[in-house]
Amino acid sequence: MTYRFDTAAIHAGSPIDPTHGAVVAPIVQTTTFAQYELGGEPPYCYSRSGNPTRRALEEALAALEGAAHGLAFASGLAAAQAVLLTLRSGARVVASQDLYGGCHRLFTKVFSRFGVQFDLVDTTDTEIVRRALDTPAQWLWLETPSNPLLRVTDIEACAEIARRRGVRTLVDNTFATPILQRPLDLGADLVLHSTTKYIGGHCDVIGGGLVTNDESLFAELKFLQNAAGAVPGPQDCFLLLRGIRTIGLRVRKHVESAALLAERIDSLPGVQRVIYPGRRDHPQHAIAARQFPGFGAVISFELEGGRDAAGALVRRLRLWTLAESLGGIRSLLCHPATMTHASLSAQERATVGISDGLLRLSVGLEDPEDLWEDLEQALRPARAVAAAGAAKRTRATDSEVRR
Ligand SMILES: *Cc1c(COP(=O)(O)O)cnc(C)c1O
Repeated sequence: MTYRFDTAAIHAGSPIDPTHGAVVAPIVQTTTFAQYELGGEPPYCYSRSGNPTRRALEEALAALEGAAHGLAFASGLAAAQAVLLTLRSGARVVASQDLYGGCHRLFTKVFSRFGVQFDLVDTTDTEIVRRALDTPAQWLWLETPSNPLLRVTDIEACAEIARRRGVRTLVDNTFATPILQRPLDLGADLVLHSTTKYIGGHCDVIGGGLVTNDESLFAELKFLQNAAGAVPGPQDCFLLLRGIRTIGLRVRKHVESAALLAERIDSLPGVQRVIYPGRRDHPQHAIAARQFPGFGAVISFELEGGRDAAGALVRRLRLWTLAESLGGIRSLLCHPATMTHASLSAQERATVGISDGLLRLSVGLEDPEDLWEDLEQALRPARAVAAAGAAKRTRATDSEVRR
Protein backbone atom coordinates (compact mmCIF):
# COMPACT_ATOMS: atom_id res chain seq x y z
CA MET A 1 0.00 0.00 0.00
CA THR A 2 1.35 3.42 -0.84
CA TYR A 3 0.50 6.23 1.54
CA ARG A 4 0.20 9.94 1.01
CA PHE A 5 3.28 12.08 1.67
CA ASP A 6 2.82 12.96 5.35
CA THR A 7 1.85 9.42 6.28
CA ALA A 8 4.79 7.92 4.41
CA ALA A 9 7.13 10.44 6.05
CA ILE A 10 6.10 9.20 9.48
CA HIS A 11 5.85 5.46 8.85
CA ALA A 12 8.42 4.65 6.15
CA GLY A 13 11.35 2.66 7.47
CA SER A 14 9.81 2.48 10.91
CA PRO A 15 7.71 -0.59 11.45
CA ILE A 16 7.23 -1.53 15.10
CA ASP A 17 10.61 -2.93 16.20
CA PRO A 18 10.18 -6.69 16.51
CA THR A 19 12.63 -7.05 19.42
CA HIS A 20 11.06 -4.72 21.99
CA GLY A 21 8.09 -3.11 20.31
CA ALA A 22 9.82 0.28 20.05
CA VAL A 23 7.82 2.66 17.82
CA VAL A 24 10.99 4.40 16.64
CA ALA A 25 13.71 2.64 14.63
CA PRO A 26 16.46 1.84 17.17
CA ILE A 27 19.99 3.21 16.82
CA VAL A 28 21.94 0.06 16.08
CA GLN A 29 25.39 1.22 17.10
CA THR A 30 27.53 -1.74 16.12
CA THR A 31 30.35 -2.33 13.70
CA THR A 32 29.56 -5.94 12.98
CA PHE A 33 26.94 -8.65 13.30
CA ALA A 34 27.30 -12.24 14.55
CA GLN A 35 27.07 -14.92 11.90
CA TYR A 36 25.80 -18.35 12.90
CA GLU A 37 27.03 -20.55 10.11
CA LEU A 38 29.69 -20.56 7.42
CA GLY A 39 28.62 -19.27 4.05
CA GLY A 40 25.22 -18.07 5.30
CA GLU A 41 23.72 -14.89 3.90
CA PRO A 42 22.72 -12.85 6.96
CA PRO A 43 20.84 -9.57 6.28
CA TYR A 44 23.66 -7.61 7.96
CA CYS A 45 27.30 -8.53 8.34
CA TYR A 46 29.29 -5.29 8.68
CA SER A 47 27.98 -1.75 9.16
CA ARG A 48 29.72 -0.21 6.13
CA SER A 49 27.90 -2.71 3.92
CA GLY A 50 24.60 -2.36 5.75
CA ASN A 51 23.13 -1.30 9.07
CA PRO A 52 19.50 -1.49 10.28
CA THR A 53 19.29 2.21 11.24
CA ARG A 54 20.72 3.20 7.87
CA ARG A 55 18.33 0.80 6.18
CA ALA A 56 15.40 2.53 7.92
CA LEU A 57 16.65 5.88 6.65
CA GLU A 58 17.12 4.52 3.13
CA GLU A 59 13.56 3.22 3.06
CA ALA A 60 12.27 6.58 4.28
CA LEU A 61 14.28 8.49 1.65
CA ALA A 62 12.87 6.27 -1.09
CA ALA A 63 9.32 6.73 0.27
CA LEU A 64 9.66 10.53 0.25
CA GLU A 65 10.39 10.46 -3.48
CA GLY A 66 7.84 7.73 -4.15
CA ALA A 67 10.66 5.44 -5.27
CA ALA A 68 11.72 1.82 -4.94
CA HIS A 69 15.28 2.34 -3.69
CA GLY A 70 17.20 4.73 -1.48
CA LEU A 71 20.84 4.91 -0.45
CA ALA A 72 22.25 7.06 2.34
CA PHE A 73 25.69 8.66 2.32
CA ALA A 74 27.86 10.57 4.75
CA SER A 75 27.15 13.87 2.96
CA GLY A 76 25.55 15.25 -0.17
CA LEU A 77 28.96 15.37 -1.80
CA ALA A 78 29.63 11.75 -0.84
CA ALA A 79 26.42 10.86 -2.70
CA ALA A 80 27.58 12.94 -5.69
CA GLN A 81 30.94 11.19 -5.56
CA ALA A 82 29.27 7.76 -5.70
CA VAL A 83 27.42 8.83 -8.85
CA LEU A 84 30.63 10.06 -10.49
CA LEU A 85 32.34 6.77 -9.58
CA THR A 86 29.99 5.05 -12.05
CA LEU A 87 32.13 6.73 -14.75
CA ARG A 88 35.35 5.78 -16.44
CA SER A 89 38.09 7.94 -17.87
CA GLY A 90 36.87 9.58 -21.10
CA ALA A 91 33.28 9.86 -19.88
CA ARG A 92 31.36 13.09 -20.24
CA VAL A 93 28.84 14.83 -17.98
CA VAL A 94 26.61 17.69 -19.08
CA ALA A 95 25.55 19.73 -16.05
CA SER A 96 23.70 22.87 -15.05
CA GLN A 97 25.88 25.94 -15.08
CA ASP A 98 25.15 27.52 -11.71
CA LEU A 99 25.72 24.40 -9.73
CA TYR A 100 26.16 24.07 -5.98
CA GLY A 101 29.77 25.23 -5.39
CA GLY A 102 30.86 21.90 -3.85
CA CYS A 103 29.61 19.90 -6.83
CA HIS A 104 31.38 22.33 -9.14
CA ARG A 105 34.61 21.76 -7.19
CA LEU A 106 34.16 17.98 -7.19
CA PHE A 107 33.68 18.06 -10.97
CA THR A 108 36.37 20.50 -12.02
CA LYS A 109 39.05 19.96 -9.38
CA VAL A 110 38.73 16.24 -8.58
CA PHE A 111 37.04 14.08 -11.21
CA SER A 112 38.47 16.09 -14.10
CA ARG A 113 41.87 14.72 -12.97
CA PHE A 114 40.66 11.24 -13.83
CA GLY A 115 39.77 12.17 -17.38
CA VAL A 116 36.07 12.85 -16.92
CA GLN A 117 34.87 15.79 -18.98
CA PHE A 118 32.29 18.22 -17.61
CA ASP A 119 30.35 20.61 -19.79
CA LEU A 120 28.45 23.17 -17.77
CA VAL A 121 25.61 24.66 -19.78
CA ASP A 122 22.52 26.77 -19.26
CA THR A 123 20.02 23.95 -18.74
CA THR A 124 17.11 26.40 -18.46
CA ASP A 125 17.30 26.48 -22.27
CA THR A 126 16.27 23.01 -23.55
CA GLU A 127 17.71 23.80 -26.97
CA ILE A 128 21.15 24.23 -25.41
CA VAL A 129 20.69 20.91 -23.60
CA ARG A 130 19.73 19.21 -26.85
CA ARG A 131 22.85 20.51 -28.58
CA ALA A 132 25.09 19.60 -25.65
CA LEU A 133 23.75 16.04 -25.73
CA ASP A 134 24.39 15.64 -29.44
CA THR A 135 27.91 14.79 -28.32
CA PRO A 136 27.91 11.48 -26.42
CA ALA A 137 27.56 11.76 -22.64
CA GLN A 138 26.80 9.46 -19.71
CA TRP A 139 24.98 11.81 -17.33
CA LEU A 140 22.84 14.90 -17.57
CA TRP A 141 23.18 16.52 -14.13
CA LEU A 142 20.46 19.02 -13.33
CA GLU A 143 20.15 21.27 -10.34
CA THR A 144 16.79 22.96 -10.16
CA PRO A 145 16.12 25.40 -8.69
CA SER A 146 19.79 26.24 -8.97
CA ASN A 147 22.01 27.77 -6.37
CA PRO A 148 22.12 30.66 -5.70
CA LEU A 149 20.29 32.14 -8.70
CA LEU A 150 17.24 29.87 -8.42
CA ARG A 151 17.08 29.21 -12.15
CA VAL A 152 14.50 26.60 -13.01
CA THR A 153 15.16 23.81 -15.52
CA ASP A 154 12.34 21.92 -17.21
CA ILE A 155 13.11 18.43 -15.88
CA GLU A 156 10.58 16.60 -18.03
CA ALA A 157 11.77 18.14 -21.31
CA CYS A 158 15.47 17.64 -20.51
CA ALA A 159 15.04 14.08 -19.22
CA GLU A 160 13.20 13.19 -22.43
CA ILE A 161 16.00 14.60 -24.59
CA ALA A 162 18.53 12.64 -22.53
CA ARG A 163 16.52 9.41 -22.54
CA ARG A 164 16.29 9.39 -26.35
CA ARG A 165 20.09 9.60 -26.51
CA GLY A 166 20.66 6.92 -23.87
CA VAL A 167 21.93 9.46 -21.32
CA ARG A 168 20.89 9.14 -17.67
CA THR A 169 19.41 12.16 -15.90
CA LEU A 170 20.22 13.08 -12.30
CA VAL A 171 18.33 15.82 -10.49
CA ASP A 172 19.77 17.44 -7.39
CA ASN A 173 16.49 17.95 -5.53
CA THR A 174 18.02 19.48 -2.40
CA PHE A 175 16.52 22.96 -2.77
CA ALA A 176 13.13 21.77 -4.01
CA THR A 177 12.52 19.02 -1.42
CA PRO A 178 10.55 15.84 -2.26
CA ILE A 179 7.29 17.42 -1.14
CA LEU A 180 7.45 20.18 -3.75
CA GLN A 181 9.15 18.44 -6.68
CA ARG A 182 9.21 14.78 -7.79
CA PRO A 183 11.92 14.35 -10.44
CA LEU A 184 11.42 10.60 -10.90
CA ASP A 185 7.80 11.20 -11.92
CA LEU A 186 9.12 13.68 -14.49
CA GLY A 187 11.44 11.14 -16.12
CA ALA A 188 14.68 11.51 -14.15
CA ASP A 189 16.66 8.35 -13.41
CA LEU A 190 18.22 9.40 -10.14
CA VAL A 191 17.55 11.97 -7.43
CA LEU A 192 20.31 13.38 -5.25
CA HIS A 193 19.79 15.05 -1.89
CA SER A 194 22.00 16.83 0.51
CA THR A 195 19.94 15.60 3.46
CA THR A 196 21.90 18.17 5.47
CA LYS A 197 19.30 20.69 4.30
CA TYR A 198 15.49 20.30 4.43
CA ILE A 199 15.43 16.54 5.01
CA GLY A 200 17.41 16.76 8.25
CA GLY A 201 15.98 20.23 8.69
CA HIS A 202 17.37 21.10 12.12
CA CYS A 203 20.89 22.39 11.29
CA ASP A 204 22.45 19.48 13.21
CA VAL A 205 23.50 16.71 10.83
CA ILE A 206 25.41 16.30 7.55
CA GLY A 207 24.13 13.66 5.14
CA GLY A 208 23.34 12.72 1.58
CA GLY A 209 21.01 10.44 -0.31
CA LEU A 210 20.32 8.90 -3.70
CA VAL A 211 16.93 7.63 -4.79
CA THR A 212 15.99 5.67 -7.90
CA ASN A 213 13.56 3.20 -9.45
CA ASP A 214 16.21 1.78 -11.78
CA GLU A 215 17.27 -1.68 -10.55
CA SER A 216 20.63 -1.87 -12.31
CA LEU A 217 21.59 1.68 -11.37
CA PHE A 218 20.63 0.94 -7.77
CA ALA A 219 22.77 -2.22 -7.75
CA GLU A 220 25.75 -0.32 -9.15
CA LEU A 221 25.40 2.53 -6.64
CA LYS A 222 24.90 0.15 -3.74
CA PHE A 223 28.10 -1.62 -4.77
CA LEU A 224 29.90 1.76 -4.84
CA GLN A 225 28.41 2.83 -1.51
CA ASN A 226 30.12 -0.16 0.09
CA ALA A 227 33.22 -0.22 -2.11
CA ALA A 228 34.06 3.48 -1.66
CA GLY A 229 32.66 3.53 1.86
CA ALA A 230 31.27 7.04 2.41
CA VAL A 231 28.44 5.89 4.67
CA PRO A 232 26.70 7.73 7.54
CA GLY A 233 26.82 6.39 11.09
CA PRO A 234 23.70 5.13 12.90
CA GLN A 235 23.37 8.24 15.11
CA ASP A 236 23.31 10.49 12.06
CA CYS A 237 20.77 8.20 10.40
CA PHE A 238 18.60 8.48 13.50
CA LEU A 239 18.74 12.30 13.42
CA LEU A 240 17.83 12.33 9.73
CA LEU A 241 14.91 9.98 10.35
CA ARG A 242 13.76 12.24 13.15
CA GLY A 243 13.87 15.18 10.73
CA ILE A 244 11.97 13.29 8.04
CA ARG A 245 8.99 12.68 10.33
CA THR A 246 8.06 16.39 10.26
CA ILE A 247 9.23 17.37 6.78
CA GLY A 248 5.72 18.05 5.48
CA LEU A 249 4.85 20.44 8.27
CA ARG A 250 8.21 22.14 8.19
CA VAL A 251 8.41 22.69 4.44
CA ARG A 252 4.87 24.07 4.25
CA LYS A 253 5.72 26.62 6.92
CA HIS A 254 9.11 27.46 5.35
CA VAL A 255 7.35 28.12 2.03
CA GLU A 256 4.57 30.21 3.55
CA SER A 257 7.08 32.51 5.25
CA ALA A 258 9.31 32.70 2.16
CA ALA A 259 6.39 33.73 -0.04
CA LEU A 260 5.59 36.54 2.37
CA LEU A 261 9.18 37.82 2.47
CA ALA A 262 9.67 37.47 -1.30
CA GLU A 263 6.67 39.73 -1.84
CA ARG A 264 8.02 42.42 0.45
CA ILE A 265 11.78 42.48 0.04
CA ASP A 266 11.95 44.63 -3.05
CA SER A 267 10.27 47.46 -1.16
CA LEU A 268 13.40 47.78 0.98
CA PRO A 269 15.97 50.47 0.15
CA GLY A 270 18.98 49.31 -1.85
CA VAL A 271 17.37 46.07 -3.11
CA GLN A 272 17.88 46.02 -6.86
CA ARG A 273 16.46 42.65 -7.76
CA VAL A 274 14.66 39.84 -5.96
CA ILE A 275 15.01 36.31 -7.28
CA TYR A 276 12.29 33.88 -6.23
CA PRO A 277 10.57 31.34 -8.52
CA GLY A 278 7.18 32.21 -7.04
CA ARG A 279 7.36 35.78 -8.29
CA ARG A 280 5.80 36.58 -11.61
CA ASP A 281 8.95 38.42 -12.69
CA HIS A 282 11.05 35.22 -12.36
CA PRO A 283 12.12 34.20 -15.89
CA GLN A 284 11.01 30.58 -15.44
CA HIS A 285 7.96 31.29 -13.27
CA ALA A 286 5.63 29.32 -15.56
CA ILE A 287 7.75 26.14 -15.47
CA ALA A 288 8.23 26.55 -11.73
CA ALA A 289 4.47 26.80 -11.18
CA ARG A 290 3.96 23.52 -13.04
CA GLN A 291 6.95 21.54 -11.82
CA PHE A 292 7.63 23.00 -8.43
CA PRO A 293 4.44 24.29 -6.86
CA GLY A 294 5.23 25.99 -3.56
CA PHE A 295 8.44 27.51 -4.97
CA GLY A 296 10.69 26.68 -2.03
CA ALA A 297 12.05 28.79 0.79
CA VAL A 298 15.27 30.18 -0.62
CA ILE A 299 15.24 33.77 -1.82
CA SER A 300 18.14 35.57 -3.43
CA PHE A 301 18.43 39.30 -3.86
CA GLU A 302 20.91 41.78 -5.14
CA LEU A 303 21.97 44.84 -3.19
CA GLU A 304 23.06 48.08 -4.73
CA GLY A 305 26.58 48.84 -3.50
CA GLY A 306 28.06 45.36 -3.91
CA ARG A 307 30.19 43.84 -1.24
CA ASP A 308 30.28 46.92 1.03
CA ALA A 309 26.49 47.05 1.17
CA ALA A 310 26.27 43.29 1.78
CA GLY A 311 28.83 43.59 4.59
CA ALA A 312 26.93 46.44 6.20
CA LEU A 313 23.69 44.47 6.10
CA VAL A 314 25.36 41.45 7.70
CA ARG A 315 26.74 43.58 10.52
CA ARG A 316 23.33 44.98 11.36
CA LEU A 317 21.24 41.80 11.28
CA ARG A 318 20.30 40.37 14.68
CA LEU A 319 18.10 37.39 13.89
CA TRP A 320 19.45 36.20 10.56
CA THR A 321 22.77 34.38 10.91
CA LEU A 322 25.52 34.66 8.32
CA ALA A 323 26.32 31.02 7.61
CA GLU A 324 26.68 28.45 4.88
CA SER A 325 23.88 25.92 4.40
CA LEU A 326 20.12 26.24 4.18
CA GLY A 327 16.93 24.35 4.79
CA GLY A 328 16.97 24.31 8.58
CA ILE A 329 14.76 25.69 11.34
CA ARG A 330 17.02 28.68 11.79
CA SER A 331 17.04 31.49 9.23
CA LEU A 332 20.40 31.90 7.54
CA LEU A 333 21.87 34.30 5.08
CA CYS A 334 24.79 33.69 2.81
CA HIS A 335 27.00 35.82 0.60
CA PRO A 336 27.72 33.40 -2.29
CA ALA A 337 30.69 35.32 -3.73
CA THR A 338 32.74 34.95 -0.54
CA MET A 339 31.16 31.77 0.84
CA THR A 340 29.44 28.94 -1.07
CA HIS A 341 30.87 30.02 -4.43
CA ALA A 342 34.29 31.23 -3.30
CA SER A 343 35.83 28.17 -4.98
CA LEU A 344 34.81 29.61 -8.37
CA SER A 345 37.14 32.18 -9.88
CA ALA A 346 35.88 35.77 -10.18
CA GLN A 347 35.64 35.14 -13.92
CA GLU A 348 33.53 32.00 -13.41
CA ARG A 349 31.24 33.83 -10.98
CA ALA A 350 30.78 36.65 -13.47
CA THR A 351 29.90 34.16 -16.23
CA VAL A 352 27.30 32.48 -14.05
CA GLY A 353 25.93 35.81 -12.79
CA ILE A 354 26.92 35.78 -9.11
CA SER A 355 27.65 39.39 -8.26
CA ASP A 356 29.30 40.77 -5.10
CA GLY A 357 25.98 42.30 -4.03
CA LEU A 358 24.11 39.00 -4.20
CA LEU A 359 22.74 37.54 -0.97
CA ARG A 360 20.85 34.32 -0.44
CA LEU A 361 18.27 33.83 2.30
CA SER A 362 17.21 30.50 3.71
CA VAL A 363 13.92 31.29 5.40
CA GLY A 364 13.64 29.35 8.64
CA LEU A 365 10.74 28.58 10.93
CA GLU A 366 10.78 31.69 13.12
CA ASP A 367 7.79 34.02 13.00
CA PRO A 368 8.05 35.63 9.54
CA GLU A 369 7.15 39.06 10.93
CA ASP A 370 10.24 38.96 13.16
CA LEU A 371 12.35 37.95 10.16
CA TRP A 372 10.88 40.80 8.16
CA GLU A 373 11.43 43.41 10.87
CA ASP A 374 15.06 42.37 11.21
CA LEU A 375 15.69 42.76 7.48
CA GLU A 376 13.93 46.08 7.54
CA GLN A 377 15.90 47.55 10.43
CA ALA A 378 19.16 46.27 8.94
CA LEU A 379 18.61 47.53 5.41
CA ARG A 380 17.61 51.06 6.09
CA PRO A 381 21.08 52.23 7.14
CA ALA A 382 22.78 49.80 4.74
CA ARG A 383 22.06 52.18 1.92
CA ALA A 384 23.96 55.03 3.50
CA VAL A 385 26.98 52.77 3.99
CA ALA A 386 26.81 51.66 0.36
CA ALA A 387 26.80 55.25 -0.80
CA ALA A 388 29.78 56.05 1.38
CA GLY A 389 31.58 52.95 0.09
CA ALA A 390 30.98 53.94 -3.50
CA ALA A 391 32.36 57.42 -2.78
CA LYS A 392 35.58 56.18 -1.24
CA ARG A 393 36.10 53.07 -3.33
CA THR A 394 39.41 52.32 -1.68
CA ARG A 395 39.10 50.06 1.33
CA ALA A 396 38.41 46.35 1.26
CA THR A 397 36.63 45.87 4.59
CA ASP A 398 33.92 43.44 5.71
CA SER A 399 35.93 41.25 8.02
CA GLU A 400 32.71 39.48 9.07
CA VAL A 401 32.16 38.21 5.59
CA ARG A 402 35.42 36.28 5.58
CA ARG A 403 35.23 32.54 6.12
C1 LIG B 1 24.61 21.35 0.34
C2 LIG B 1 24.38 20.90 -1.06
C3 LIG B 1 25.12 19.84 -1.61
C4 LIG B 1 26.24 19.16 -0.86
O1 LIG B 1 25.79 18.51 0.28
P1 LIG B 1 26.69 18.31 1.61
O2 LIG B 1 25.73 17.59 2.50
O3 LIG B 1 27.06 19.66 2.09
O4 LIG B 1 27.86 17.50 1.21
C5 LIG B 1 24.82 19.45 -2.90
N1 LIG B 1 23.87 20.06 -3.62
C6 LIG B 1 23.15 21.09 -3.13
C7 LIG B 1 22.12 21.73 -3.98
C8 LIG B 1 23.39 21.54 -1.83
O5 LIG B 1 22.68 22.57 -1.35
